[in-house]
Amino acid sequence: MSIDQQISDYYGKLQMRNAGEPEFHQALAEVLDSLKIVLNKDPHYADYGLIERLCEPERQLVFRVPWVDDNGQIQVNRGFRVQFNSALGPYKGGLRFHPSVNLGIIKFLGFEQIFKNSLTGLPIGGAKGGSDFDPKGKSDAEIMRFCQSFMTELHTHIGEYRDVPAGDIGVGAREIGYLFGQYRRLENSHESGVITGKGLKWGGSLVRTEATGYGLVYLASEMMQTHGETFEGSKVIVSGSGNVAIYAAEKVQQLGGVVVAMSDSSGYVTTPNGVDIELLKDVKEVRRGRISTYAAEAGEGVEYHRDGNVWEVQADVALPCATQNELDGDDAKLLVDNGVRYVAEGANMPCTPAAAHYFQQKGIAFAPGKAANAGGVATSALEMQQNASRDSWSFEYTDQRLHEIMSNIFKTVDSTAKEYDMEGDYVAGANIAGFKKVADAMLAQGVI
Ligand code: NDP
Repeated sequence: MSIDQQISDYYGKLQMRNAGEPEFHQALAEVLDSLKIVLNKDPHYADYGLIERLCEPERQLVFRVPWVDDNGQIQVNRGFRVQFNSALGPYKGGLRFHPSVNLGIIKFLGFEQIFKNSLTGLPIGGAKGGSDFDPKGKSDAEIMRFCQSFMTELHTHIGEYRDVPAGDIGVGAREIGYLFGQYRRLENSHESGVITGKGLKWGGSLVRTEATGYGLVYLASEMMQTHGETFEGSKVIVSGSGNVAIYAAEKVQQLGGVVVAMSDSSGYVTTPNGVDIELLKDVKEVRRGRISTYAAEAGEGVEYHRDGNVWEVQADVALPCATQNELDGDDAKLLVDNGVRYVAEGANMPCTPAAAHYFQQKGIAFAPGKAANAGGVATSALEMQQNASRDSWSFEYTDQRLHEIMSNIFKTVDSTAKEYDMEGDYVAGANIAGFKKVADAMLAQGVI
C-alpha cells in the first residue's frame, strides 16, 4: 500500500477513535497531510508505530472541579490535562478557561503544542489543559476558589520535571497566581518551575506577558523581509483584544505599522490612525472591559461595529489573534480581494482549512500558528531556565533571546520547506521540521 493510502486509512481510523472531536481531526489532518511528503522521502519514520504513537496522547486526565460561588451555591465544572508527548522534555502547554472547552479542543491544542515546542529548539514536550469554567462576570473570590479547586486535583500530575502548565485564553496573571498559591500550599514547596507566567516578584520572567504578540510580529517581519517588505507604513488587522492581540498591536506600531482594526467576540473597532495602546491596556488589562469601551473612549475617527466582521477592513497584513476557526474561506477571499499579502496566526488554528488553502493558492505568505505564536511558550521555557538557575534576566536580554528564537524558527521553517521542494509553504515547513525532531527522539527512546 502506498504511503499516501496508509496515511489516509490511518486518518479514517483516528476519526472513528476520536469521534465528536472536529477540532482535533482538523489538527491531525493538517499534520498528517504534511507527513505524507516526509514518509515518501524518509520511510523509516513509519517504523515502530511512530505515527500511531504520535497521534495518541501519552496521558489524558479528566476531572471534577467543584467550587462554591458567592451565593453559597455549589458549582461543578470539568477539568482537563492532556499530556501529549514528552519525548523532548517535560510536558509544557497552557491552561484555557472558557465555556467552549472540551476534551477534543484540549487534544487539538496539545497536539499542536508538540510541534510548536519542538520548533522553539528548547527541551519541552507538548501538553494542554483547561476547563469549561467561564471567568467572565465572576468575582475575584470566585475565580480564586475555582483555581484552588482545579489545582487540588492537578497538583499530583505536574512538576518542574514532569509537566509545566501556563496561561491561555481566560488564564492570565491573576489565575496563575491563585493556581501557584494552591500548588505551593498543597506541596509545601516553592517550586517556581512548576508553572510559568508567574508574577515578576515571585519567579516570573520579564517579556513573558509580551512574548506571544511580540514573537508573532518578529516572525511576520522576517517573513515580510523575504518578500522585500517591512511593517513600516503597512496597515494591519489584529483580531481579538486579549493578551496576544494587545502585544502584537504594540509591536506592529513600534515597527512603524498602523493597526487599523481590532475585535472581541461582540464586535470590532476600526482605528484608521492606529490604536492607542496605553488606553487599550487600561481598558482590557486594568478594567477588564470590552473593545466597545475602548471605542467609546478613543475619540475621533474610531468606530465600533457591533457583531461586525473584522476581516472586512482593508489591510496589507492580517494577524488573527482571537481563537480557533475565527477566519473562514469567505473571510480569506474578502481579505485577498482587499489587498492582504501576509497572514500570520497569533491564535492557535484561527484559519479554517479552506481559508489556509485559499491563502496558499493565491500566493499569500501564510505563517501557521505553531511557528508564528511559539514566542509565548519559548519565553515560558526561558522563565524555567531562570527559575532553575535562581536568576532573573533583564527585559532587553530576554527580548533579544525571544527575537533570536523567532528568527531561527522562521529560518528553519523556510529552509525545511525548500528542502522538501515546497518553497514558500510555511505550513509544510513547520509541520515537517517540528515532526522530525520529535520523531528522532521517539525512535531513539524505543517503543513507549
Ligand atoms: P485572551 O483570553 O487574553 O484573549 C482572547 C481574545 O479573543 C479576547 O479578546 C476574546 O474576546 C477574543 N475572542 C475569543 N473568542 C472569540 C470569538 N469567537 N470571536 C472573536 N473574538 C474572540 O487569550 P490569549 O490572547 O491568551 O489567546 C488568544 C489565542 O492565542 C488563543 O488561540 C490561544 O490559544 C493563543 N495563544 C496564546 C498564547 C499566550 O501566551 N497567551 C500562546 C500561544 C497561543 P472576548 O473577551 O469577547 O471573549
